[in-house]
Amino acid sequence: MKINKFCQSCGMPMTKDPENGGTEKNGSKSQKYCSYCYRDGEFLSSEIKTVKEMQNFCIEKMKEQKMPGFVAWIFTRSIPKLERWR
Ligand SMILES: [Zn+2]
Repeated sequence: MKINKFCQSCGMPMTKDPENGGTEKNGSKSQKYCSYCYRDGEFLSSEIKTVKEMQNFCIEKMKEQKMPGFVAWIFTRSIPKLERWR
């Protein structure tokens, strides 16, 4: 099975996910999405519908964690390439 190193929704490294990935409807682990984005087979944060919104959301989250704005910006530039947004 192909295991993604990064969440295919937000781009977070899966190794940083305390729960090691989200969960599918049947309770199995998702290999694609992290526990912040995906639970019980559905995407969380339903207000996020576009890549742009996800990018802004991630930038805000990273700023909360004291990450410099430009680093957050560079990080989120890869989000449109992720599977959820293609
Ligand atoms: Zn995610």
